[in-house]
Amino acid sequence: MADHDNAHDDVRPRTAVLSRGFDPSLSFGSARPAVFRSSTYVFATPEAAEHAFAVTMGKIKPANGERADLIYSRFSHPNSEILEDQIVPLEAGAREAAVFNSGMAAIMTACFTFARPDSTIVYTTPLYGGTTGLIHTFLEPFGVHGIPVPSGDTAAIDEGIRSARNCCIVLLETPANPTLIMTDIERVAESAAKHPDKPVVMVDNTFLGPTFQHPLLLGAHLVLYSATKYLSGFSDMVAGVAITKSSEMIQRIRSRRNMFGNILQPDECWMLDSRLPTVALRMNRQSKNAQRIAEALVGHKKLSRVIYPTLFDDPEQKRIFEKQCAYPGGIFSIDFHGGKAAAFDFLRRVRIAKNAVSLGGVETLTCHPRSTTHSGMSGQELAESGVTDGLVRISVGIEDWRDLLADFEQALA
Ligand SMILES: *Cc1c(COP(=O)(O)O)cnc(C)c1O
Repeated sequence: MADHDNAHDDVRPRTAVLSRGFDPSLSFGSARPAVFRSSTYVFATPEAAEHAFAVTMGKIKPANGERADLIYSRFSHPNSEILEDQIVPLEAGAREAAVFNSGMAAIMTACFTFARPDSTIVYTTPLYGGTTGLIHTFLEPFGVHGIPVPSGDTAAIDEGIRSARNCCIVLLETPANPTLIMTDIERVAESAAKHPDKPVVMVDNTFLGPTFQHPLLLGAHLVLYSATKYLSGFSDMVAGVAITKSSEMIQRIRSRRNMFGNILQPDECWMLDSRLPTVALRMNRQSKNAQRIAEALVGHKKLSRVIYPTLFDDPEQKRIFEKQCAYPGGIFSIDFHGGKAAAFDFLRRVRIAKNAVSLGGVETLTCHPRSTTHSGMSGQELAESGVTDGLVRISVGIEDWRDLLADFEQALA
């Protein structure tokens, strides 16, 4: 994949993330952005106020490259604009971003922007628990019918899309959590493009993006993140992002965000923008660590499976991984012959890794999805998606992998 596939910028992403979006002269020459906590902004003239509202409310189209004057911080503020500009080069193929106060806020706002009454949303299973809840307990009662399709099952996904009536959204999460089953983004985007309703194809790219997987280059329209995970990387904040190549799409999403009031606050924007230049460094280290550990645990007598992309044996899964992922990423799962009791013993004995949900931080975290993050799924859903009693998910950090492996081995002994 070319390193410089972004829609603008004449430098590569690792350079652009440190050079665009922020003009030191607007922060008294400060090398890092100031934090602008103001809730409201002063207009030079009443005409300027009128124009800013007309642009923000979409009554007039902004001139090419024009940003509406700042009005009020629920709509946008300097730190959100800096962050949105800086994050764009990290997502190959992107032009525009909108930041939110959580990953769920980004997903919810995207769904509410494109969902219509009496329509359908096709989605892969398993999905993040919060997203599943959004579909079942909110969208469905409002008349947006959910059509679940199993992750990775290309034929079933094609059929799900083909048969969807008044289809407004196709939502993928790949790799799936915690089974790492991969869905062919390009194939799904092609099926969606053939549908007469032209549904918006959204990909929750939290697990492998923005460094290792580039949905916009594969035909997806919108990429969604829980920035709480790899983007922020230190398990100390909650944030979300929506990224797209379409200015029109981001305008529609931002106008919903204006209404809902779920923009990321200035301090959090400032924190997150300081993390962006190291996303690729951290993710590369995490992926290398995870690969070494996962491959070393293969064949351990207490484990029935080690789930990791380089260990896939299904030819279709291998094909998708090789086609759409640059590296396998920092998450692997292990499944114990001894079921829940063995999994809990392991979690109790591990010393370095912490037993916590969430993922993507510089510290290694372990969790037992069936009793925690996935406890809301029905028995049938759990069985169908392979979330077994003995499964433990591990999000590998940037510690020395040899210490982590030794720790896992003693906990398994
Ligand atoms: C954590 C997570 C979310 C939700 O993000 P929040 O920042 O917790 O709101 C959505 N999707 C995936 C894949 C996640 O891991």
